[in-house]
Amino acid sequence: MRAKIAVLPGDGIGVEVVAWGAQVLQHVAAKYGHTFQVTEGSIGGIAIDTTGSPLPDASLEICRQADAILLGAVGGPKWDVGPPEARPEYGLLRLRKELRLYANLRPVKTFPALVDSSPLKREIVDGTDLLVLRELTGGLYFGRPRGRSVNKQGIRVKDTLTYTSGEMERIIRLGFDLARLRRKQLASVDKANVLASSGLWREIAEQVAAEYPDVEVEHILVDACAMHLINDPQRFDVLVTENMFGDILSDEASVLTGSLGMLPSASLGRGRRGLYEPVHGTAPDIVGQDKANPLAAILSAGMLLRHSLGLDREAAAVEGAVEDVLAAGFRTPDLARGATGERPVGTQAMGEAVLARIG
Ligand code: NAD
Repeated sequence: MRAKIAVLPGDGIGVEVVAWGAQVLQHVAAKYGHTFQVTEGSIGGIAIDTTGSPLPDASLEICRQADAILLGAVGGPKWDVGPPEARPEYGLLRLRKELRLYANLRPVKTFPALVDSSPLKREIVDGTDLLVLRELTGGLYFGRPRGRSVNKQGIRVKDTLTYTSGEMERIIRLGFDLARLRRKQLASVDKANVLASSGLWREIAEQVAAEYPDVEVEHILVDACAMHLINDPQRFDVLVTENMFGDILSDEASVLTGSLGMLPSASLGRGRRGLYEPVHGTAPDIVGQDKANPLAAILSAGMLLRHSLGLDREAAAVEGAVEDVLAAGFRTPDLARGATGERPVGTQAMGEAVLARIG
């Protein structure tokens, strides 16, 4: 296969971890006979410093030309000033918007070697392997009208929750498609007992379900779902939900694995092109110290191989290599518990250990 991959390292540890994600992709290409043409671009604070914009036109163009994008993270205290559109985060939001990425995928899987890293009991988290699928473009975060008004009674505030049936259907359908690639179970999360939007969501989920008789569907209220996620996460395979519910549930689910440094993500649109990035930020507290865990970025590269390039075998090889290094005891500081058999390592040694185990 020949593919064009855009790499946007961003700021802070984004640069350190994406270097390993990119190396993993080149290593996979060499091992499996593919050609990946990698082009690097700037985004975030570094892009503000060098071009004045958090997403320079040149970077956007590189992404438009690419089959997939691997990104690090953006931001840092240096750029926490000025209007929102002049800050690093705006570069990321604009990139998602320009590429029309409407679906955010966050897989949450506990690795056997790390079950004791979670704040939850081993018997609860052991075997957890779920995917939170969140709608990214609609709902309460973008609805109009919004804002404040003042009258005799005091201040009145308004947010608007709007969705079209089309926006709901495309994300629900993606949920079914992704469930088919996994254990064929879909939990559709809503608040249909209270919200009109959720009523339509459930109707559409039922209609689409008729086309996927091989997928087992459960309709679950968001409050109950929040409880089950930490009580019995093993019951879930794919969870699909609207923007705000997904924002909250995906952060809740992320604690199951024990470290932010383990969580990859993908944002997808209509075609196969996607944006892949670790869930964590730029970690200014550990930047430049060889302490950053590169596994979330490496697992993001694995998701890129699977979802944008359709290379399932290669993605499985990357995930298997991560599982192997953890089983062999390699631990960056965020994962270290001081247990016997642990091998404390830095970013570089962890990256090299993964490369050595791919294929
Ligand atoms: P953060 O994720 O950067 O760090 C939170 C904590 O987790 C820190 O103690 C950090 O050292 C640790 N951590 C994070 N990733 C790690 C890794 N790979 N290995 C080891 N430890 C890791 O969140 P924050 O401190 O709230 O934010 C720092 C900056 O990052 C801010 O400017 C914020 O806006 C930005 N940020 C960017 C993104 C993004 O680009 N998607 C996401 C979140 C935060």
